[in-house]
Amino acid sequence: MNRLDALLRPLIPLIRPVYGGAGLALMFHRLIPDGQTPRLPALETTPARLEEALVWFERRNYAFYSPADLRRFLRGETRPARPFVLFTFDDGYRDNLTLAYPVFERHGVPFTIHVTTGLPDRTAVLWWYLLEDLIERGETIALELDGQTHRFETDTPAAAAQTRAALRPRLKYASPSEFARLVERLFRARGLDPLAPTDALALTWDEIRRLDADPLVTIGAHTCSHRVLSRLDEAEARAEIGEAKRILEARLGHVVTHFAYPYGARREAGRREARLVAECGFETALTTRYGNLFAAHAAAPLALPRYDLGHCPAPACLDLIASGALALRVNRLRRVMRL
Ligand SMILES: [Zn+2]
Repeated sequence: MNRLDALLRPLIPLIRPVYGGAGLALMFHRLIPDGQTPRLPALETTPARLEEALVWFERRNYAFYSPADLRRFLRGETRPARPFVLFTFDDGYRDNLTLAYPVFERHGVPFTIHVTTGLPDRTAVLWWYLLEDLIERGETIALELDGQTHRFETDTPAAAAQTRAALRPRLKYASPSEFARLVERLFRARGLDPLAPTDALALTWDEIRRLDADPLVTIGAHTCSHRVLSRLDEAEARAEIGEAKRILEARLGHVVTHFAYPYGARREAGRREARLVAECGFETALTTRYGNLFAAHAAAPLALPRYDLGHCPAPACLDLIASGALALRVNRLRRVMRL
């Protein structure tokens, strides 16, 4: 939230009828036990904060939608009498089962998990946690990049933050071969098992099947290895999307038609990626671009907006988000973002 949001707040009753739309989708990643300090605050919240958000929508008489409900809305098969909200979790962390699921069960509220198939397959590297493991050692990291040896310090919180800021984009935007090289040199060469965070934090196929058996839960696709799709060539991107669908359907025994882009900003998931997602047979796909959901999104069901609620389920935030006030500011007054 910024200062402009404080100015917008008194205008919410005027903004809501125009920008509130029919509903909204929310994104979470991990839940950690209440009282535990987050390692990556942008990705981790607690069951108490999740429940607070859920109750906020219950009190305002929102309908809780699954992706199938959303698809029916976008096809014009239902005309919602009240606003709706979708709760979604990305990547497929085990705490979605152990900590989030009980909250949704208690309230009888549906939720969606977008699973990166390489996590239960134990092939995808959760590099953002692996990097934390490395930084938490507090050692100097000497690394050759672009033909030069760089030294990254991690002994103070400020130095660690600087190192994080320098290395995260390197890992995130690396091509598949660069990424494999970085994993070897940065982590494995220092004695870190690249798959240790995956083993420790990700759902197994058995756990995913257990969740999938509950009608409250929808399993959606989230690629195989969680690379930035726009950085891949077309064949690689298509394989990441199409193989994920094939693997999920084989493991779950039913069709999977809902997708969420890993890193869903415009430069990471644009027109080409939406076309590939359509060609692979998906019917709805969520980005990470802010915005509320309107009937007009029927024209762009593979580029639907969603709000990152990982670290901001405070009621003050929810009012700004649900009313569309935040989207109004971020999207400079446009209501329905096109690709
Ligand atoms: Zn993700």
